Amino acid sequence: MRYAFVIDQGRCIGCHACSVACKAEHDVPLGDYRTWVKYVEKGAFPDVRRFFTVLRCNHCDAAPCVEICPTTALYRRDDGIVDFDKDACIGCKACMQACPYDALYIHPDRGTAEKCNFCSHRIEVGLEPPCATVCPAEAILVGDLDDPTTRVAQIVATQKVDVRKPEKGTLPKVFYVDSEPSALVPGASSPAGGYLWADRGPGAAKATEGVPPRSHANGTNGGGTPAVGMDLGGLRPATALEPEPPAAWLGSDLPPPAFAQAMSADDYPDAEFFRGVWAGLAPARTTYDVPHARPWGWKVSGYLWTKSIAAGAFLAVALAPWLEVPEDPTLRLGLPLLGLVFLGLTTALLVVDLKRPERFLSILWRPNWSSWLARGAFVLVAFGGLGAAWLLLAWIDPGGPWTGWLRWPLVAAAIAGAGYSGYLFAQAKGRDFWQSPLLPLHFVAQAAVAGLAIAAILIVVAGADGGTADAGIGRLAVLLPGAVLLHLALVVFGEVGVTHPTQDAQRAARALTRGSLRYWLVAALLTGAAGAILPLTTPTMGPAALVLGALSALAALWIWEHGWLRAGQIVPLS
Ligand code: SF4
Repeated sequence: MRYAFVIDQGRCIGCHACSVACKAEHDVPLGDYRTWVKYVEKGAFPDVRRFFTVLRCNHCDAAPCVEICPTTALYRRDDGIVDFDKDACIGCKACMQACPYDALYIHPDRGTAEKCNFCSHRIEVGLEPPCATVCPAEAILVGDLDDPTTRVAQIVATQKVDVRKPEKGTLPKVFYVDSEPSALVPGASSPAGGYLWADRGPGAAKATEGVPPRSHANGTNGGGTPAVGMDLGGLRPATALEPEPPAAWLGSDLPPPAFAQAMSADDYPDAEFFRGVWAGLAPARTTYDVPHARPWGWKVSGYLWTKSIAAGAFLAVALAPWLEVPEDPTLRLGLPLLGLVFLGLTTALLVVDLKRPERFLSILWRPNWSSWLARGAFVLVAFGGLGAAWLLLAWIDPGGPWTGWLRWPLVAAAIAGAGYSGYLFAQAKGRDFWQSPLLPLHFVAQAAVAGLAIAAILIVVAGADGGTADAGIGRLAVLLPGAVLLHLALVVFGEVGVTHPTQDAQRAARALTRGSLRYWLVAALLTGAAGAILPLTTPTMGPAALVLGALSALAALWIWEHGWLRAGQIVPLS
């Protein structure tokens, strides 16, 4: 059994009865939506048409929100409905990053993730969801996709239907009849022309954390001019006279209209839209939509940064002989101590970013083993345990044989602690920019930068007098630039300088290179360059140059991580 929706956009009259019925059924707070109606307009006066699109959770058969949820608060029922347990949710917002359809919101009072749950309480007693029963145009149908006698199964089997973002592989179960492609593909229409009337103001698109700002009180909402100051991720507004060429056209010898004509629908899901644009139709305009928050902000970029320092500090101390950094008592005890301090800060940032921080231990006692958030929690616990053992033994038995036993397990735990975030961000399927296969390697490279930088600061500021400290400073002045250059190479050639495979990833990269986030990239590159060059001047300028270089390298890491985190969330999902 697999419950599914069929939504006939040709019948929809845009009356919002479904949205209102849903709000009444579930007491959905003002400003949040389990289902909503988006308006897209196409054409030029007098030949203009407005399209309504009903958007909601797709009850995906391969739901990425279920996969990433660390506590199994989101789950797929045997009848195919993707439901949630608000008593198990910790408010980590990972599901909001994993869902490619903007289906979830954080309930402002409960602090838990919620969405359309197909009104499972009504389905269980043989009733349909109120969005279907209230629709005056019979545009919303519900039924079992596996039962060939249902209208839903018959329509899906016999008519042309579309789903949102089929390329994501989520197997959505909301099927659209008579849909308009530019209404289903977020990047195919632009809000730049302004909204008719909307619960979405200029500030809403810039929300970075938690629930979107609600600005009714100060009168800035609903004015019909939401595009002022809105971040379009480097896109030209749709009202521009010349249409935007498809991103795939870059590097082609063909002029954009000819390229658009040659696009195959198999290779380019937006082919039909671009052919229409270049055939002379006016680009599509979004004229009504609802706000969606960007769930992760400075606490998450801060967590990446402190985790890099923690993992890097243990990598540096465990690999010191291998890196030919001379044994110095300051490094032997100071690095593991700093590693544990930053691991504690990492945990604190993770916990305070939760909307239900008092439930954070449920990641450990009811883990979802498919989630890299849950796996990462166990990695951090193991890493912290090994790190604490190393510090204790380094203190009570400095020359003992235990280093031989603990060294490689600690190195493995530190690499896992640094790199697992790459797999976690890859589970955020909604964010194309975070899907780089180089990400785990890049996080390990960032840990190497952080570890060497913190070791450099430590040995200059508190190193023992005499030869070991001087030799250590000389060695770190060579190693640190090497690690920083590897990090910068991965930024330039692995993250922003490559041709990304999807338009959303290209738009995010463009926001960093040419758009509103370009100053973050410039600052990350400049501070990174200082982190690579200054340590090399240590022989002439003295240890202060190494410290300045190390501080620059640490600053470069955080600036990059924050800009990268924001870029991934800049592209609208719905
Ligand atoms: Fe619904 Fe999004 Fe989860 Fe799919 S990924 S089941 S659309 S919340």
